[in-house]
Amino acid sequence: MKNLLLLGCSFLLLTTQQACAQRKTNASTQDNRTTIEQNMTSPQWRKDNYIVNRDSAFANPYFALQKLRGGNTRFQQSRSIHPRQDPALIKRLSEGQSPFATIVGCSDSRVSSEILFDQGFGDLFVARTAGQVMAEASYGTIEYAYLMLGTKLVVVLGHTGCGAVAAAVKRPENPPGHIVTLINAIKPAALEAKKKQGETIDNAVRQNVINQVEELRQLESVLSRAYAEGDILIVGAVYNLATGKVEFLDETLTDLPKTSYSKRDITGL
Ligand SMILES: [Zn+2]
Repeated sequence: MKNLLLLGCSFLLLTTQQACAQRKTNASTQDNRTTIEQNMTSPQWRKDNYIVNRDSAFANPYFALQKLRGGNTRFQQSRSIHPRQDPALIKRLSEGQSPFATIVGCSDSRVSSEILFDQGFGDLFVARTAGQVMAEASYGTIEYAYLMLGTKLVVVLGHTGCGAVAAAVKRPENPPGHIVTLINAIKPAALEAKKKQGETIDNAVRQNVINQVEELRQLESVLSRAYAEGDILIVGAVYNLATGKVEFLDETLTDLPKTSYSKRDITGL
């Protein structure tokens, strides 16, 4: 009986301590949010934290790119501000969305776009499959974001150590189920990578992204036209699992079509 009482008291003490700790965590998260909201109006703080105005990012894909780069820099430096996650905003978003970028990424559990770009609810329209392999449904998803939501930046985001790309390089005998679909789609990049110097899987990851960017730029009829007319920007990037850095690939950032977007037209940066 005495032991039972002692056990009961210990449990009560532990539960009370846990509740206190939880209240402290909630309070400090709230304090942190309040500080960030207060600082948001300071031009110097915005500059120091690579803040890009959201309306500008939605209106102009080059600003959207800048906003993603800034968010990833905060994430790498462990200075994420976790924007746009408060209940009032979530409620407002129930009326509609205007994401400023579409991310075509891998399903890998370590490559969560909102976290690694330090963005919030309503910011990113995301299509994820293993090795970011695309088919009809992915195409429709990306076209929907452009045509119906007005999103003007598409980023194909691969990552180091991608299991789907590694499988395409190793070519296992008789892969089970539908996994062969992924391997076949990545195979051209894997073959190209084997001809190059350096680490084959790393090279295949990059080549796969470059091929997928090209696939979208040439996709009839919506994206190819939008890209050729300079109304949409389609670029590629690789996320490094170990460092947290997103590298936007130069190969996908040069020789871009002429665009009607001009930084001079954008205010509020
Ligand atoms: Zn992957």
